[in-house]
Amino acid sequence: MAILLASVLMPLTDSGGSTSTTGITTTQILVGGAVIGGFVGLLIGQRKGRAGTGLLLGMFLGVIGWLIVAALKPIDTKHSISSSRTTVRRPAAVANEDERRVRCPLCAEKILPEAVVCKHCGREIPPATLPSPPPGTPGGWLSDPSTRHPDRWWNGRAWTDWVRDKHGGTRYEDPPFTRV
Ligand SMILES: [Zn+2]
Repeated sequence: MAILLASVLMPLTDSGGSTSTTGITTTQILVGGAVIGGFVGLLIGQRKGRAGTGLLLGMFLGVIGWLIVAALKPIDTKHSISSSRTTVRRPAAVANEDERRVRCPLCAEKILPEAVVCKHCGREIPPATLPSPPPGTPGGWLSDPSTRHPDRWWNGRAWTDWVRDKHGGTRYEDPPFTRV
């Protein structure tokens, strides 16, 4: 054992001076023991995917550390790989859909903004009215806040059904509601 320790320590402690095996100090033996303990622990741990744990336990606890590493359950690499894949594979589309969800005005559960019937309470979502222009805005053709048409007629107090297909174009009707 002393020869083994010495051969491990020589390259580390050779400071150019006396390099006889009798010059080994207690500190050097402790360091050497930690190196060997850590190395053996690493070898035992490697077989279980726990090289790091083995190294540390071997370094600090020596033989006891080796026994602990040997008793540890091997890490199920297959399982950890598949579980990490599931998190990575979470589709971006699903994440975006979650962010877009709004609260049902009737039951407060999260639903998609386009929903006509709430999937949680089964009731029909009342359409929201379009946001009004600033107070005092006189009646006229304004840009349609539903964004479904270029223009919508504002009568000075409320949005009307009147919309146009283009500025100065044909007038037709579309109720001033939105579900978004
Ligand atoms: Zn609901």
